[in-house]
Amino acid sequence: MSALTVDGVSKSFGATPVLDDIHVDVEAGELVSLLGPSGCGKTTTLNVVAGFLPADAGRVLLAGKDVTAVPPYRRDTAVVFQNYALFPHLRVRDNVAYGLRARKLPATEVTERVQEALTLMDIAGLADRYPGQLSGGQQQRVAVARAVAVRPRVLLMDEPLSNLDAKLRQEIRLELRALQQRLDQAVLFVTHDQEEALSISDRIAVLNGGRVEQVGSPAEVFERPRTVFVADFMGVENIFPGEVVDGSYRTADGLELPVPSAGPADHVGIRPSAVRLAPAGEPSIGRHPAKITGRVYLGDSVRYHLALEPAGIAVVAEQPRSAGTSWQPDDGVLASFAAEDLLPLRAL
Ligand code: ATP
Repeated sequence: MSALTVDGVSKSFGATPVLDDIHVDVEAGELVSLLGPSGCGKTTTLNVVAGFLPADAGRVLLAGKDVTAVPPYRRDTAVVFQNYALFPHLRVRDNVAYGLRARKLPATEVTERVQEALTLMDIAGLADRYPGQLSGGQQQRVAVARAVAVRPRVLLMDEPLSNLDAKLRQEIRLELRALQQRLDQAVLFVTHDQEEALSISDRIAVLNGGRVEQVGSPAEVFERPRTVFVADFMGVENIFPGEVVDGSYRTADGLELPVPSAGPADHVGIRPSAVRLAPAGEPSIGRHPAKITGRVYLGDSVRYHLALEPAGIAVVAEQPRSAGTSWQPDDGVLASFAAEDLLPLRAL
């Protein structure tokens, strides 16, 4: 039985549909991310699961029990909000105790669980401070401690790391993942950051315009995106509509590519890192003459913007900095695309 089942949830605000038949499961001990751009419905989904918003259609099940009509405070969930939502007038220990007291746990158990959660989050030394006396990272820890202390069936996290600077975000991300695995805690995790979703999740549900477009492990979603939207969101920057003609894939711009090895497709995609570049003088069979139109130095790698000749089709290529040749704008190169690197995609 899943810890959480979101079963066909739809939701409109006025005449605007925001969620359209959302299905997502979170198994016990699993961390599932809802990933998508701003406005795709991630927070709304979370709010429906938490019971803050009623769904127009569909059901929410916690451990198999239909809680669609159950108010938030009686659902077996706890939420970590993006802005932490700590009570400013309560000390850290009382913030963490809040949900336990609301659940009418005996005082001794409240004390024990608060201590345990503070220790778990490595903030026992801050127990008597007020939120205003904490750094952003420390407040974030208190918010997680407060949610973890209630030992919810499902922990709901809405962009919990987005107010932290990049370095801290990466550190706490790893820590959260370790904690989640140690506690065997089911988590529904909202983020718009693909790298964050890839690094923290057991599975990722990619949302687009209120619909789930693909659900899979990080490797599945990254390496085998099925739709143009998911591929684009996962950094597949070169995407061409087209069709198979006479044993090759002909794009709408007239580019001839190998036929992607898997499945029918109305688009093909290729990652910048999979575009192969060679010096203009080399044999050109199966390669496309191109001109470098731009170069961006990224430290570990260099990105090249290319125009394929003769039509000027734009392609982005990325090469490790250590790769033999480095090119400059206006240099001629040969670009090639291997069948195994071409991703078959559907527009949906
Ligand atoms: P973000 O990452 O920007 O928070 P999101 O994916 O979490 O985006 P939601 O907050 O779920 O997106 O919002 C989805 C859509 O619903 C947006 O277009 C938003 O403007 C709209 N929306 C959200 N809440 C309301 C509301 N209370 N009334 C009307 N429209 C709303």
